[in-house]
Amino acid sequence: KLYNMVQDLKGNIRVFCRIRPAFCAGTRNVIDFIGEDGSLVISDPLKPKKDGRKVFQFNRIFGPSATQDDVFNDTQPLIRSVMDGYNVCIFAYGQTGSGKTYTMSGPSGGSTKDLGINYQALNDLFEISNQRRDATLLTVNSTSDVLNLMKYGEVNRVVCSTAINNRSSRSHSILTVHVHAKDPSGNMLRSCLHLVDLAGSERVDKSEVTGDRLKEAQHINKSLSCLGDVITALAQKNSHIPYRNSKLTLLLQDSLGGHAKTLMFAHVSPEEDSFGETISTLKFAQRVS
Ligand code: ADP
Ligand code: MG
Repeated sequence: KLYNMVQDLKGNIRVFCRIRPAFCAGTRNVIDFIGEDGSLVISDPLKPKKDGRKVFQFNRIFGPSATQDDVFNDTQPLIRSVMDGYNVCIFAYGQTGSGKTYTMSGPSGGSTKDLGINYQALNDLFEISNQRRDATLLTVNSTSDVLNLMKYGEVNRVVCSTAINNRSSRSHSILTVHVHAKDPSGNMLRSCLHLVDLAGSERVDKSEVTGDRLKEAQHINKSLSCLGDVITALAQKNSHIPYRNSKLTLLLQDSLGGHAKTLMFAHVSPEEDSFGETISTLKFAQRVS
């Protein structure tokens, strides 16, 4: 229901916000209220309460106590639409340490509990494809995390796999699932699902990094801003969508725009010292929604 409603309002782009739990008790929390209607209030720690408050609106907000299952439950309908021939792209955006990899893959340290969207999505799709016997075939280009999962034997119909990336915060990690499914009248539908754990969005202090590290950081910032430009152009239904401005958007082109469905998770950290990055993540997410 949520999806139909959101789709009517905003086309095929939606933005969910997730706030991770604070790491240590006692740190001041700058996100002090999470409205049930999808609004979030953040307070500037350096300003008096009433001047420093800003409200942001999203399609859905997951507070610090939201579980992986809560998040997956609201994402599942979108993921399942891949089986109906839609291309789908899900991004995790936010500064390093805000919980992007937790949402997409799961907890750090390789725990097999609380697995993230990547695993739950693959399990779900394989289950459906097994139910619709002989009708579907999936090809997975996977991250190393998923290769590990395959060792558990839960995913057994993998046609080919390529490790694209690791858990590094300075690179984008993309898991692509290609789906070939037959519709009820026997026509072959081809679609794909991209699950993307983006590089950390934090601005890099130019005085701190030089040489290759600086070039790499500038490259990442550029690809993230290109992604923002593409999604903004789509949300505004512009006639020109600047896919060609970065490798990332070029790679994801089929799953952004047209009939494709896009979901961005904006991840934020609740701590006071992340205030600046949190505001810029919220603004980025607001811009594309
Ligand atoms: P990012 O990928 O954005 O750099 P991580 O996903 O690695 O951030 O999260 C940083 C740390 O916080 C990790 O140890 C992770 O397991 C933990 N963490 C993140 N989000 C949550 C959450 N919702 N619940 C519990 N722990 C979390
Ligand atoms: Mg990460």
